[in-house]
Amino acid sequence: MSCGIIGLLSRRNIARNIYFGLLALQHRGQESAGISILKNGKIHTKKGVGLVSDLFSKHQIENGELGIGHVRYSTTGTSSERDAQPFQVDSPLGGIAISHNGNVVNLIELRRELSRDFPFESGCDAEVLLKLLAREVSEEGDLIEGIKNIYDLVDGSFSDVLLTGNEGLVAFRDALGFRPLVWGSGPTFSSESVVHDVLGREFYGDVNPGEVILFRDDTIERERIKRKKSKFCMFEYVYFSRPDSIINGKLVYSVRLKLGEELARIEEHEGDIVVPVPDSSRTAAEGYSNYTGIPVVEGLIKNRYVGRTFIMPTQEEREIYTQLKLNPVRSLVRNRRVILIDDSIVRGTTSRRIVSLLRKAGAKEIHLRISCPPIVSPCFYGIDMANKRELIAANHSIDEIEKILGVDSLIYQSIDGLVRAIGFNKEELCLGCLTGRYPTPLANELVKVEKSGRLWE
Ligand code: SF4
Repeated sequence: MSCGIIGLLSRRNIARNIYFGLLALQHRGQESAGISILKNGKIHTKKGVGLVSDLFSKHQIENGELGIGHVRYSTTGTSSERDAQPFQVDSPLGGIAISHNGNVVNLIELRRELSRDFPFESGCDAEVLLKLLAREVSEEGDLIEGIKNIYDLVDGSFSDVLLTGNEGLVAFRDALGFRPLVWGSGPTFSSESVVHDVLGREFYGDVNPGEVILFRDDTIERERIKRKKSKFCMFEYVYFSRPDSIINGKLVYSVRLKLGEELARIEEHEGDIVVPVPDSSRTAAEGYSNYTGIPVVEGLIKNRYVGRTFIMPTQEEREIYTQLKLNPVRSLVRNRRVILIDDSIVRGTTSRRIVSLLRKAGAKEIHLRISCPPIVSPCFYGIDMANKRELIAANHSIDEIEKILGVDSLIYQSIDGLVRAIGFNKEELCLGCLTGRYPTPLANELVKVEKSGRLWE
C-alpha cells in the first residue's frame, strides 16, 4: 500500500506531534490511521478506520517519548479496522510495532510459510513483514541482523519505521527506494518532508535506498545494507506526494512545473484557457501556461471536504465522490476552448465525469492534456492502479479514449518528457506501469499471469 508513515522522538507531547505529522500526510491515505507510543518499555497502540482528525479527537493517547504513526489506503487487505496500522508483535527482543509503506509482492508465499508459526489477524502485507521480521530477529538474536535478512527475503517495496520495546526507533528502505522516506532532527522519520516543516524540525534528506537508520540510547547508527541502482516511483512526483515535499532530493513542485512545460512542448495548440483539475494538476497547468502564454483559469472548484477519488476503495464510492467533489464555474468556461490539464488517467471514470461537467457548463471545445504518460500496466509496489483490464490506456487507442471521454483531443506526456522533468536518468526510475517492465523478478512473472487473465479469476 502507498501510505504515510512517521516515527519520531519528542521529549514532550509525542502523541500531539505524531498527530500533526499524520495530518500533514493525510493525502497519502484516508481509510485508517494509527499511533503507537512507547511508554516504560511497553508499546501502546490506538488505531481505527477514518480520518486522523476524527479518530484522534476521540481517542486518549498514551504519552511517552518515542512513537510511530500511519495513514493508510489499501492495496492489500481490506479497509477494515483489523487492517489498520501500526501492527505490533512480541519478539525475544521485546515488542515491535511497524508502520509500513510499500507492497510485499511475494506476500502469498511468505504468509503461507509464516502461518505455520504465527497466527494472522489481518490480510495486510505489513503484518506479514512484521512477523517475518520477528522470526528473523529471534533467529539472529539481533534487530539489525534480522532487518538485513528482510532485504533478501522480500520481493517488493518497503519504506518503514519500527518502534521497539528495548531498542528504540528504526527506519529502513528497500534497496530500490520505490517509496520515499526522509529524516531530520529529533530524529524524525516520515514519508514526506512536509512533516518536518509542520513540526519545525530540521530536514536532513533521504533515508537512502537500502539503508537502515537506528536511533537508540540517544545516538544514530546508519548502515547501507544493499547498494543497487535506485528505482524511484515516478508516480510520487506526478500525483501522489505533496508539491511542497522534497523527495529523493527533488522538490515535487518543480517537477510538476516542468511536467507542464514538457507537455506544452509536444504541440502548438490554440486554446483560450488552461483549466487544471484541482488540486494535483495545478502546478502542471502553471507550467503549461508559462510555456504557452495561455492563462490558467480556475474553472473547476473543488469541495475540500471530500477525499481524493483515487484512494476510495470501491468503484461505487469513487463515482459518488467524483460527483460531490468538483463544480465548474460556468461563466469562466462557457464558449471557451478549454485546455484541461490532469495528472493521469487510470480507469477514465473521473475524467469522463469532469468532461461531461464542463460540456454541461458550456465549454466550446475540450482538449485534454495529461502530465503522465499512458498507464498501461498495474503497479505491484503499492499504488492502487487497478488491474490491466480496468486501465483505459491498456485497452484502447488514443482515438477511442477521446471518444469514450468525450473530448475534442487528447495528448499524453511522453516517457522522455517525464524523465526529463523528474531529472533522474531513466534507469533510476521505476516506469513499470508505463512500460509493463518491472524492476523486480516476481512482478514480471505476475504481469504475465495477469495478461492471461488468470491473476484476477
Ligand atoms: S509501477 Fe508505476 S506506480 Fe508502481 S512503483 Fe513503478 S512507477 Fe510507481
